[in-house]
Amino acid sequence: MTDLAELTEQLSYLKPDDIALVRAAFELSKSAHDGQMRQSGEPYITHPLAVASILAAWHLDAQALIAGLLHDVLEDTPVTKPDIAAKFGKQVAELVDGVSKLDKLAFQTEAHAQAENFRKMLLAMARDVRVILVKLADRLHNMRTLVAMREDKRLRIARETLDIYAPIANRLGLNKIYQELEDLSFQFLYPNRYQVLEKAVKTARGNRREVVAKVKEALTHKLADAGIDARVSGREKHLYSIYKKMQEKSLTFSEVFDIYGFRVIVKDVPTCYLTLGALHALYKPIPGKFKDYIAIPKANGYQSLHTTLFGPFATPIEIQIRSADMHKIAEAGVASHWLYKSGEPGVNEMHKKTHQWLQSLLEIQSESGDAAEFLEHIKVDLFPEEVYVFTPKGKIMALPRGATPVDFAYAVHTDVGNRCVAAKINHELAPLRSELRNGDQVEIITAAHGNPNPSWLNFVSTGKARSHIRHFLKTMQYEESAALGERLLNQALRALGVQHSDVGDAQWDKLLRENSGKTKREILADIGLGKRLNIVVARQLLALHDALPEERKLVAAGPITIRGSEGMAVQFAKCCRPIPGDPIIGFIKKGQGLVVHTHDCPHIAKARGDVDKLLDVEWDPGSRKMFDVAIKLVVANQRGVLAKIAATIAEAGSNIDNVAMEEEDGSIYASMLFTLQVENRAHLANVMRGLRKLPEVVRIARTKG
Ligand code: MN
Repeated sequence: MTDLAELTEQLSYLKPDDIALVRAAFELSKSAHDGQMRQSGEPYITHPLAVASILAAWHLDAQALIAGLLHDVLEDTPVTKPDIAAKFGKQVAELVDGVSKLDKLAFQTEAHAQAENFRKMLLAMARDVRVILVKLADRLHNMRTLVAMREDKRLRIARETLDIYAPIANRLGLNKIYQELEDLSFQFLYPNRYQVLEKAVKTARGNRREVVAKVKEALTHKLADAGIDARVSGREKHLYSIYKKMQEKSLTFSEVFDIYGFRVIVKDVPTCYLTLGALHALYKPIPGKFKDYIAIPKANGYQSLHTTLFGPFATPIEIQIRSADMHKIAEAGVASHWLYKSGEPGVNEMHKKTHQWLQSLLEIQSESGDAAEFLEHIKVDLFPEEVYVFTPKGKIMALPRGATPVDFAYAVHTDVGNRCVAAKINHELAPLRSELRNGDQVEIITAAHGNPNPSWLNFVSTGKARSHIRHFLKTMQYEESAALGERLLNQALRALGVQHSDVGDAQWDKLLRENSGKTKREILADIGLGKRLNIVVARQLLALHDALPEERKLVAAGPITIRGSEGMAVQFAKCCRPIPGDPIIGFIKKGQGLVVHTHDCPHIAKARGDVDKLLDVEWDPGSRKMFDVAIKLVVANQRGVLAKIAATIAEAGSNIDNVAMEEEDGSIYASMLFTLQVENRAHLANVMRGLRKLPEVVRIARTKG
């Protein structure tokens, strides 16, 4: 493509005013790039022109075409963003700016830089999908002309295309471009393999020509006999997909039978299934190969029936059956929105779904600041391998492979995820971490007071579940830390002889100003998390600048009461596992908040010097929560002893949280380490009394550390 005339011919779908604007953009681009050359030696304008031509083939609107023509001017010429906005409007300027920013992303081998680039790309796309369409057109033309580049640049660009641009094109359903990008990357990355494979396919094509022609005729006849109006065509797979198949399944070329496939296009959905029936009557289908992407479309909107038949000459024949509408989407994906303006339901639905997907990217983005994490989130979206499961009402949900009931719950609704406590798979209770399989029926049991569990992060596989769990935990911890921080601050104020209510807004305002715009809640949360000391903040509030007060005046202010319901802001030390009734002491751990130890815990003895971080705490006498405690038993190693012990513990109203056993070979005794839940010391004493009565129990003791 070298001149405007050719492009103009492609623009008949636009209004005359718009065509004039596109032509004006061409003139601007041409004069701006005047004198610049491409690596190939051609005038630079040939590149934006080719990009615009690709966009015109998708029937994109004038704004996108103008952006395509101008996509390199900000980078390489004196033209500015305001210039573009003045001539072509703000939206065009934003599009060009978006594409330019993507251009600036230097792809690096370092994983994090790559993740960051990927993230920016997807976010640009989420704001306006046309940005990525222009970028893909740009990349496609660069790939088509890559041969002029230096070898190291060639390899870098080809790798980037294979890793980033091709998956995005695939996710957007831009099937033709996706295949071309993959094949071009393959060709530059592995020139030898590419050539060998290309030759092999050519030879196979020659050898099989007759077979293909015969099968095609047989299919056409059969459908005509059945009174089905159909278009049958042969279809060759793209080289990179053959190569991938050979690699994944360790096949030699001669073992890859299905380099040919057939496609049957009919008028509507019912005819698709009629066609399937007719063809299954012609050749036997291979069991397990039938896929119904009409009932359950792929994430990128693709719909078709796939089946593989035992053909003549013992060759398997892959067949795709689809309606004309489905065919449009299968070829052009998200671009079909512009290509077929007719407002067909299939196209609209696909466009809506793409939009939803992009919005969900924005949501995930706002939850995770880290680029690598973001990439992890969306990888499953871009490289989909899905399982299909059913809701109790029979609705189908598509989830990535490896998804669990928790992923399912979040896919149904955020609230269902946050409140989920148990799950039934195919009517039977199953662990929340179970991997879902195709066809499972999943029912989520929720509780009004259910909360996400941090351990879910170890097994969920969708970005949505992960980001919602993270978000919930962060908010929870923040709220709880702020509440604790307030209590700690009050304690410090009391020690200085002041009530919190006596501290006026002016004093707070002053403090907040000194702390560079933090909010009061943030300051309180900082105290709760141990990032600031309560006594220091209290003194700042009261503007006391003299030396620190006499030692431990805090004691006079009375202890902080611990209820056990403070949530994540208060932790009970795992070393000594304090329970109500134990004398306790608090320790403020930076970044974590308040950790409660028993008075005699060896860990706390080490911290005695750190007076500011130790805190006087006591149990709230009204607490009815359950606390973890550890006990060790030595028992006679007999059958059924564990069951007996468990029953005794349960009888005493306690729960077993965990049990570990140590058996020595040949010994008649075994040690058991239980983690139990009890209300307080009296409760624990009661449990232990019950256990002592068992004849099998030789020794029993509470363990600390
Ligand atoms: Mn370019």
